[in-house]
Amino acid sequence: MRILVINCGSSSIKYQVIDALNEHCLLKETIEKVGEEVTIDKALEQVVAAVTDQTIDAVGHRVVHGGDEFSDATLIDDDVVNRIEKWTSLAPLHNPFNLQGIAVARKLFPNIPHVAVFDTAFHARMPRRASTYAIDKQLAEQHKIKRYGFHGTSHNYVAHKAAAFLQRPLAELRIISLHLGNGASTCAVEMGHSTETSMGMTPLEGLVMGTRAGDLDAGVVLHLQREANLGVDEVDQLLNRNSGLKGLSGIGNDLRDIEAAAAEGDDNARAAIASFAHRVRKYIGAYASTMGGVDAIILTGGIGENSKTMRRRIMQRFGFLGITLDEDLNHDAEVSHEQPVICISEPHSRVKVLVVKTNEELMIAKQTLAVAHKDVEVENPGPIPIAVSARHIHLDKDTFAELFGEDAELEHYKDLSQPGQFAATQKLNLVGPRNRIDGVRILGPLRSKNQVEVSRTDEFVLGVDAPVRDSGRVKDSAPMTLEGPKGTVHLEEGLICARRHIHMHTDDAKRFGVKHNDEVEVAIVGGPRDLVFGDVLIRVSPGYALEMHIDTDEANAAELSKNSDGQLVYTDVLGANAQLKIKHT
Ligand code: ADP
Repeated sequence: MRILVINCGSSSIKYQVIDALNEHCLLKETIEKVGEEVTIDKALEQVVAAVTDQTIDAVGHRVVHGGDEFSDATLIDDDVVNRIEKWTSLAPLHNPFNLQGIAVARKLFPNIPHVAVFDTAFHARMPRRASTYAIDKQLAEQHKIKRYGFHGTSHNYVAHKAAAFLQRPLAELRIISLHLGNGASTCAVEMGHSTETSMGMTPLEGLVMGTRAGDLDAGVVLHLQREANLGVDEVDQLLNRNSGLKGLSGIGNDLRDIEAAAAEGDDNARAAIASFAHRVRKYIGAYASTMGGVDAIILTGGIGENSKTMRRRIMQRFGFLGITLDEDLNHDAEVSHEQPVICISEPHSRVKVLVVKTNEELMIAKQTLAVAHKDVEVENPGPIPIAVSARHIHLDKDTFAELFGEDAELEHYKDLSQPGQFAATQKLNLVGPRNRIDGVRILGPLRSKNQVEVSRTDEFVLGVDAPVRDSGRVKDSAPMTLEGPKGTVHLEEGLICARRHIHMHTDDAKRFGVKHNDEVEVAIVGGPRDLVFGDVLIRVSPGYALEMHIDTDEANAAELSKNSDGQLVYTDVLGANAQLKIKHT
């Protein structure tokens, strides 16, 4: 499922070939000086030449302005092209080039689907109170004057990433997304939907940006025209190209240069930095109140991902909102392809602060795939064996010694299906505030952390409230008392309800087209009761054998017998917009 993603701008064409299933970028190029040294036609012919050895399944086109007409990625045909054209007057610097790219690419790749992915789409359903300018209604309608918002692909992408990282459904989160790049915007993502954003009819509104002024009293424009005799194009040039960080600092639009100058005492540079941060803080406060609270704040874009000093400046003194930044985590945070989300708030911070590496091209590829191939048939990768894991205990060396005595050894009872894992002969009693469960088996070998895995039913028996967690993530999980033959140990944390997961060998992951930490749906078919388990975590390691682990409650719900097999039903980790179902035959 290889997607060619094309971002055709006024002076450059950026393109990537992305395998949308395993999220690998196979090719990434930029052709500069388009329109000067090379025409769009010639440049796109270069693209075709460069990708001939890759089989392309579909092309995804970035389109800046889709107005309020396109609220989703859309399969391109002649009618769609005409409808995009309608919005050109609102984005004269972008849409004509996007459209030219589409026209040429459709000629060069005539036999595959082309999909338009709009910067505005994510905001298209913004509530009216947020999208309306308080001007004459008729005039506004006639000239399509309203707030459309931009950077939607990025805000949508990072919000999904954040929810997955926090292991919470996006549908229950209130997120403030701060996309701080050369262009910059904020977005209130409420239950997965954009309900406010700082860019408006054009990308000029909102934050202080690299070269754009952002929010400004419209009276300033009138004043400049009347008193300074500036023409329309001069005001355009001033506000879009020569303002923002560049205008304030007098140095340029790159924050790195401005931070360096500020460190050496340059007062204009300091003022630029202070204005930038102040404006972002203003929006955070505003969105926290429009949403009636906030659960997570995301920093992304070149500045959000890289400037720790700007992140600190923005996120400080928000204690009153329930935000406490961890200075060390902030200082050390380096997001990368391997680690695209890093939490930089303190563990007790009610609001989580996350640095997220954005990837608009990947999102475009995923949405393109979802639109172009709604139901894709792939080779059946085969069934997945299911193991029902009964309640069990993992112990560290010291805890084992406290419970069984210094000289005791963990004794092998029988092998488990995962290589190297075994059930021990020793058992322990779990003592909860309400009740106890005796004779819970220990699994070996000993680990570096204690972990007690129980089912929901067990929780109610014990009278405890255990979080659903991936195995190994016991930090801030529930406390538990363990009773052994030689002693009793109270664990401050370690009790979890294990999250459904599938162990996969690296080869299996390739066969299924998934990777470590993906979430998939698994359909249990052919049993007494067909059932789909959502939110199943993929865990990949060369040391794993293919097997899905569910707990006893879940097995009961599916009326699973010992030999039931699961089949993967893929849903894209990025949610409804990018739903990809691969049917198994
Ligand atoms: P665009 O909006 O053009 O996609 P990016 O999101 O790539 O821009 O952001 C580019 C900007 O990020 C640069 O102009 C620079 O101001 C800022 N930036 C990148 N790296 C750093 C860094 N290490 N420290 C401070 N600012 C940085």
